[in-house]
Amino acid sequence: MSNIITPQSFANRTPRQVALPPHAYTGEVSDVVRQLAPVNPLYIMWPERIAEAAKQFLTQFPGETVYATKCNPDKIAIQTMYRAGVRAFDVASIGEVRLVRKLAPKAKLYFMHTIKSPEAIAEAYKVHGVRAFVLDSMDELYKIMRATELAQDLELFVRMALPKNSKAQIDFSTKFGALPYDAADLLKACRPVASRLGLCLHVGTQCTDPAAYKRAVKVAAQVLKASKVSIDVLDVGGGFPVEYPGSQPLPPFQDFVDTITSALKAQKMDTIPLMCEPGRALVANAVSLVVRVEGRKGNLLHINDGTYGGLFDAGAQVRARYATKVISRNGTARREQDLVPYRFAGPTCDSIDMMKGPFMLPSDIVAGDWIEIQTMGAYSQALRSNFNDFGHADQIVMKKI
Ligand SMILES: *Cc1c(COP(=O)(O)O)cnc(C)c1O
Repeated sequence: MSNIITPQSFANRTPRQVALPPHAYTGEVSDVVRQLAPVNPLYIMWPERIAEAAKQFLTQFPGETVYATKCNPDKIAIQTMYRAGVRAFDVASIGEVRLVRKLAPKAKLYFMHTIKSPEAIAEAYKVHGVRAFVLDSMDELYKIMRATELAQDLELFVRMALPKNSKAQIDFSTKFGALPYDAADLLKACRPVASRLGLCLHVGTQCTDPAAYKRAVKVAAQVLKASKVSIDVLDVGGGFPVEYPGSQPLPPFQDFVDTITSALKAQKMDTIPLMCEPGRALVANAVSLVVRVEGRKGNLLHINDGTYGGLFDAGAQVRARYATKVISRNGTARREQDLVPYRFAGPTCDSIDMMKGPFMLPSDIVAGDWIEIQTMGAYSQALRSNFNDFGHADQIVMKKI
């Protein structure tokens, strides 16, 4: 692959809305798909499911809910979330700052990338009113102070690393976060220059075990004790899981909340205001991706989207599985009672563009059938590339019936 990125190669990165009235679709996915007969991968979004997930956090989580924009920066997703009551957004790049500021002008923005460019910090602070910035090193603290010309109203968040979490799909602590004693020093250094001081962590994405949050709270308690300073907010991060096929049944969301609050109580930290930064849990269930079978070789289905498109997580690194449903071209019922395991191959010429699944589908699938891949709202649209010019996807929105 060439390293030279031309503006052209970015042109199709984000899925376009199809040229059909949004909010115009109701009813069965299969009927809508047959009616549209999509040649390109098609995202179907149910905004009310985003609103429902948002309500769950807003009513059950005892603190501020901050949406992690990177998980799905779709315009309708962000606006739906804001309307549902999520008023704060975790942004990680100046592009995300500009996007959310435009879509939700009154939203509170948290600039949560630990290593930012000075230009991004300055623009976020001066142009977009961002006051909250994360850091995990002394250099970044100096950078933030310089780029904001020693601003007196900074809200500083120290990101701490956590021990490895085997109950998460991807662990972030190898890349981000200060080790406990460094985090304590950073809190000390930030306290005099911060109008609001926070400590934050991330247990890793798709974390299926509430106990991981309990362990994280313990480490946070050690950091606080070592720092001898008081903080104004504890950010327990994202990582809240959603149900995918093949995984153990998940504990209910309330278990995660209860584990966090009882761990805080045990550490005598229950008076510290809380926030969380969910991504996946707010959007995953709200989107399906409809792909078309272009060829079949035994149980290997060549489909029109893959790991360079919307199915990165189904590839070799994460090997996620999804619930799938076949939609035949002319409405002939495929033998739903007779499901067999399939693998998928993506459309690009790269042999790593393969998805092991297994994805359970009827045995009599043929080229021309579509497949609805469910729970694709998280890290799918956001990760699309245009490799081999297969990047384009469309999106429609389903209205509540
Ligand atoms: C990605 C990310 C999140 C969201 O994680 P999910 O697993 O999608 O909930 C939250 N906070 C930070 C700092 C992140 O990088």
